[in-house]
Amino acid sequence: DKSNRYDLRSSLTARDRVGVQDFVLLENFTSEAAFIENLRKRFKENLIYTYIGSVLVSVNPYKDLEIYNKNHMQRYRGVNFYEVSPHIYAVGDNSYRSMRTERKDQCILISGESGAGKTEASKKILQYYAVTCPASEQVQTVKDRLLQSNPVLEAFGNAKTLRNDNSSRFGKYMDIQFDFKGAPVGGHIINYLLEKSRVVHQNHGERNFHIFYQLIEGGEEDLLRGLGLERNPQQYQYLVKGNCPKVSSINDRTDWKTVRKALTVIGFDEDEELLNIIASVLHLGNVQYGGEDGVACITSDTQIKYLARLLGVNGTVLTEALTHKKIIAKGEEVCVPLNLEQASSARDALSKAVYGRTFTWLVNKINASLTYTDDSCKHYSVIGLLDIYGFEVFQHNSFEQFCINYCNEKLQQLFIELTLKSEQEEYEAEGITWEPVQYFNNKIICDLVEEKFKGIISILDEECLRPGDASDLTFLEKLEDTVGGHPHFVTHKLADTKTRKVMSREEFRLLHYAGEVNYNVNGFLDKNNDLLFRNLKELSGCYLSFLLRPHRLHHLLNHLPPPSVSAPPQAATQFKASLAKLMEILMSKEPSYVRCMKPNDSKQAGRFDEVLIRHQVKYLGLMENLRVRRAGFAYRRRYELFLQRYKSLCPDTWANWQGKAFDGVATLVKHLGYKPEEYKLGRSKIFIRFPKTLFATEEGLETR
Ligand code: ADP
Ligand code: MG
Repeated sequence: DKSNRYDLRSSLTARDRVGVQDFVLLENFTSEAAFIENLRKRFKENLIYTYIGSVLVSVNPYKDLEIYNKNHMQRYRGVNFYEVSPHIYAVGDNSYRSMRTERKDQCILISGESGAGKTEASKKILQYYAVTCPASEQVQTVKDRLLQSNPVLEAFGNAKTLRNDNSSRFGKYMDIQFDFKGAPVGGHIINYLLEKSRVVHQNHGERNFHIFYQLIEGGEEDLLRGLGLERNPQQYQYLVKGNCPKVSSINDRTDWKTVRKALTVIGFDEDEELLNIIASVLHLGNVQYGGEDGVACITSDTQIKYLARLLGVNGTVLTEALTHKKIIAKGEEVCVPLNLEQASSARDALSKAVYGRTFTWLVNKINASLTYTDDSCKHYSVIGLLDIYGFEVFQHNSFEQFCINYCNEKLQQLFIELTLKSEQEEYEAEGITWEPVQYFNNKIICDLVEEKFKGIISILDEECLRPGDASDLTFLEKLEDTVGGHPHFVTHKLADTKTRKVMSREEFRLLHYAGEVNYNVNGFLDKNNDLLFRNLKELSGCYLSFLLRPHRLHHLLNHLPPPSVSAPPQAATQFKASLAKLMEILMSKEPSYVRCMKPNDSKQAGRFDEVLIRHQVKYLGLMENLRVRRAGFAYRRRYELFLQRYKSLCPDTWANWQGKAFDGVATLVKHLGYKPEEYKLGRSKIFIRFPKTLFATEEGLETR
């Protein structure tokens, strides 16, 4: 058929315009410039998705594209990954099919910096399953709950930041459980590192968590009166710090309705407690201190009255808790008055602790509502979705970036191990000799951070627990003493002259797999101690436990650390443990990857900022991804598919090929001039080391 041949030619021109849909097809695959140019071409054509092998790269379009409707979902259903243009649905479908056919649990790891589109991607996958998976009536409830868990978690865990109007301030791993028929029957969510500090402070142009504004803007008159709240966010100290009560892209009033409805769908029946707590946090923020001689007292008891009622505690006890700390001196308990500064921190600590626990409680409630109870189907398969912050590097990097980047270092390690493992397995299954790929193993950096006794986290903990003169700077010194010789660690003192120029004396630098980051140690000890919380624990000798014991809040108790005895582990150690657990979960599954990028910093459609993109290509490790992928055989297809698609390129296979697909493919590649060392014929697939551009035409073919 002549028209087919014509198509191929015209689609080659199309290729010039739209780029290649898989980066492994780039001739100049080591060139970052070529990589970015390919992204740019595609972005201009609204083709926001591109593959690196099976990894999906996505660029946030910042506008609604007509590619997420039901027709699109149907188009990707049950179709081979490479036959249609790259799409988030293809990733979802591929995982789903692998789960169904290979009976292996799957996970989809979504990473990228704030505003890159991670959360939207995870929602799109969830919607895809909700629409395309089989369902019974009972399953519909689960689907609804899975979908509705999002608005609830976003209300309590998302906020407007400078980077993203709807920024998730926590990491999330969500399991979707499927029964043997492939219908979603349950789910489970694990959350990581909620940014509690936002409850009490926001940077200029940022907001507190959405729920506060939703309640104040959308709450019914009666409700607000009962909670003692006014319909004006400016009235609340915790809501004015960022000077940004309204956001044009957000309608707090309609969102309030959505959240209330979502809570109902989830079957949440403690709205009252929940809203009491949210209102309490606002009242707490308005508790004002005065006093003389450095002894704090509360200047007005309006807030205390509301708080006492909403939390169900005794006002006098609460007042004392907010102005005194209890310590043990000479074996006896003594109440010591706090000064103004200490009292405000105690107040803020309480707000953060209460909010943090409420969030955990909410996640637990959602999990309970997603728990599949039908005993007849205990054996389900799982697809996990990980929506977690990507590598972060700012002008000023602190403890938070340290944790986040450590997390990404671990995910990279997992990526390398699993990718290489699956490559190896595929070659073996196809009967092709495996040639190990050379790559940088970042285990050395993970060890530097997490090794027992001599890793950075251990040293940090040691300093946190050491009585006496321990400070952020003694921590830095100890680092120099202990890991100073490590090839991935540098400080001002240890640096060469060139590096020294760009480092302050308060920083240490880690050479991450994705690049160098300077961390300022200022605040490391406090943040690791969760110092405010510890203050509160000091108070808690009697006060905190009392505060949280009243029956209305008894469920919160479930999340309290056991009373006194041993101190809870430090923040970084807790995070390390939860990461280790996450790695275990992910290791047991077959992974797929989605790498999200944002095209500009102004949330604008159509603007492709090359500098920003280059930065992300680097920190997402995409060139390394591509290198690993290209190191073996970059291109592979099943014989039938390959022949079907390319038979028109050779006179012998052009018309109806009657022989075996294997023989057809052998004839075809020989005709195309591939040398024997350039490809291998496996049991079911052809492997090509460096595919020529001709195989880059699939998108052009498909659009016809
Ligand atoms: P992240 O979770 O990575 O911080 P989000 O998923 O919240 O980022 O995306 C930020 C914003 O970008 C969204 O609120 C939305 O406006 C826009 N956005 C993200 N992905 C898409 C997409 N696929 N199509 C259209 N807009 C998108
Ligand atoms: Mg997000």
